[in-house]
Amino acid sequence: MLSRQEARESNARTYPRRLPLAIASADGIFVRDVDGREYIDCLAGAGALALGHHHPAITEALHDTLAAKVPLQTLDLMTPVKEAFVDALFASFPETFANDAKIQFCGPGGADAIEAAIKLAKTATGRGAILCFHGAYHGMTHGALSLTGELGPKQAIQGLMPDVHFLPYPYSYRCPFGVGGEEGQRLIGRYIEHILDDPNSGIRAPAAMILEVVQGEGGVIPAPESWLRTMRRITRERGIPLIIDEIQTGLGRTGSLYAFEQAGILPDILVLSKAIGGGLPLSVVVYRSALDQWQPGAHAGTFRGNQLALAAGAATIRIVREQSLAQHAERMGDRLRNGLAALYALSELVGEIRGRGLMTGIEIVDRSRPAGAFGHPAASPNLARRIQHEALQRGLILELGGRFGSVVRLLPPLITSAEQIDAIVERCIQAVLAAGESDSSAGSG
Ligand code: PLP
Repeated sequence: MLSRQEARESNARTYPRRLPLAIASADGIFVRDVDGREYIDCLAGAGALALGHHHPAITEALHDTLAAKVPLQTLDLMTPVKEAFVDALFASFPETFANDAKIQFCGPGGADAIEAAIKLAKTATGRGAILCFHGAYHGMTHGALSLTGELGPKQAIQGLMPDVHFLPYPYSYRCPFGVGGEEGQRLIGRYIEHILDDPNSGIRAPAAMILEVVQGEGGVIPAPESWLRTMRRITRERGIPLIIDEIQTGLGRTGSLYAFEQAGILPDILVLSKAIGGGLPLSVVVYRSALDQWQPGAHAGTFRGNQLALAAGAATIRIVREQSLAQHAERMGDRLRNGLAALYALSELVGEIRGRGLMTGIEIVDRSRPAGAFGHPAASPNLARRIQHEALQRGLILELGGRFGSVVRLLPPLITSAEQIDAIVERCIQAVLAAGESDSSAGSG
């Protein structure tokens, strides 16, 4: 199957290159391949499977929807299934946001919702410039890719969206100002505020600032709460809509239903996908009603009304709230990172372990290579890939991301138990140690 996949599928395919798996079935946090091998799934649909595989509540919601003979697609026409989803979603928001919110269904992946958010902000402000951040990931469509930091997928694409301005993100481990910590984030805040008021900065009044509260694909980099409050103040004071992309962090992943809540801020425009569809494709933009200035048909798409996704999403929101899975994610995330912290003493490969809730990254470095010009340890994509490979051998599916693909990422479902977290920690530690051993026996630098 894998060789046929290689022969027939596009050269742009990604995961199968590093995770050569043919998956036959899945249950909870486990997937089983066609040869019967079982793996713990810390990729979980890149975070889309908040409740893991085949959660009974989702299965039941899907069965009920099919049994009710609801049409499977309704564009943006109303159905009881859709109303129940909107009720559940709005009830999950902070009240002040929900009371003044409008929702646009997008179709159906995260990147399309990013496109919609940009169009909405441009329409409402009559401006064109967008502020985004180094390390950001907002998707692969032209507009979303324009706002994404990683150069790899942009290199060959001419004519991306103009008037996009990348700003430093508080990535303390590789601070652009060489200081990190609170001083680093203070300098970034100051720099951003300065360029927005500098008539010679070259940046016209922006239509929006877009950010992730925890950069996911960028390497699991949580923004400090005070820095987020600074961004909120700076944008509010200047009438710049703040778009918060919670496509990956939304619905409990980081320890609160929405990651922005921890900083005590509200977005003007919130973008959601992944978990809110219960594993099926669904994406939305939710925004302050004052921004609702676009015309009928300003954003459309055939697959905005996937009733199965709406039913699965409503069930997911209900279970995440009823079972306090955000709080569970916080506890399990702490347990995971505390367990992995043993690696600091055991392996030279580990630069930093960081994250929030069940979103964890291990930055892999190669200390045998010279540090970069600013003293940052050399990133090591080769070792990260080796760790991913060793983990797979031990029945653990991990993801890679970050600068040079050198951050090992773990996105286990929110239902992962303490016992399962301990199993993940053990396999992960063994994988890092094995990668370190094969590295030293290969004598590679
Ligand atoms: N924004 C963030 C923060 C993401 O993590 C992703 C996907 O990983 C996207 C946008 C793009 O979503 P999609 O892949 O569904 O287009």
